[in-house]
Amino acid sequence: MATNKAPTGKPLANLKEEICEIGRRLYAKGFAAGNDGNISYRLGPNEVLCTPTMISKGFMKPSDLCIVDMDGNQISGSRKRTSEILLHLTIMKERPDVNAVVHCHPPHATAFAIAREPIPQSVLPEVEIFLGIIPIARYATPGNQKFADTVKPFAKDSSVIILANHGTVSFGESVEKAYWWTEILDAYCRMLMLAKGIGRVSYLTKTETQELLDLKAKWGYTDPRLTGASTSSKKTAARGKTRTRRR
Ligand SMILES: [Zn+2]
Repeated sequence: MATNKAPTGKPLANLKEEICEIGRRLYAKGFAAGNDGNISYRLGPNEVLCTPTMISKGFMKPSDLCIVDMDGNQISGSRKRTSEILLHLTIMKERPDVNAVVHCHPPHATAFAIAREPIPQSVLPEVEIFLGIIPIARYATPGNQKFADTVKPFAKDSSVIILANHGTVSFGESVEKAYWWTEILDAYCRMLMLAKGIGRVSYLTKTETQELLDLKAKWGYTDPRLTGASTSSKKTAARGKTRTRRR
């Protein structure tokens, strides 16, 4: 049975409403065409609320949602759970602090995913503060654990990950926050494309970037660049900067 209160402290009915609202935003922004995208919310140690398969995210009702266990087995809901639930559960297992996951195909970020063009750092203050390092996970056929495992190396150091030739996945303490990171990322990718059309992308200096990282630390956000925790993320980020600069 579903618990009445999730780790967020909110009643189940409110979490269902939140997922439907974020579904409407995904659809309205053009981030989820047709039946694209899926959303999940952690309810307890072995219960996760999620969207069903084959439904437009713009028109979901709370009664359409499903509940699964941490292995992806469906516990409740009349519709079949999303085929991408293993991606969500893998992130939740890697990140106990994460309560919600949003996966979709936002066009500008997905254009970078298709081009396999790394997302540059040290360009926009909001992106440095809220997103930090944005890795690109390798391509795998969607829908199974092998695909879900592609995000494992990056889940600890990031809040949003690009999925090569596929889309994005973002996560946070609430479904709204998880959605924000996708919205900020897609806006950023669009700005980069527009800037490249006008001229070139200008980068912040090392000192300017450090000032943003200092702000980030002050506001309580983590970043592997502050702790030197992640070598894989650093490599991804450095590659991104170099390749984009050459253009
Ligand atoms: Zn997808």
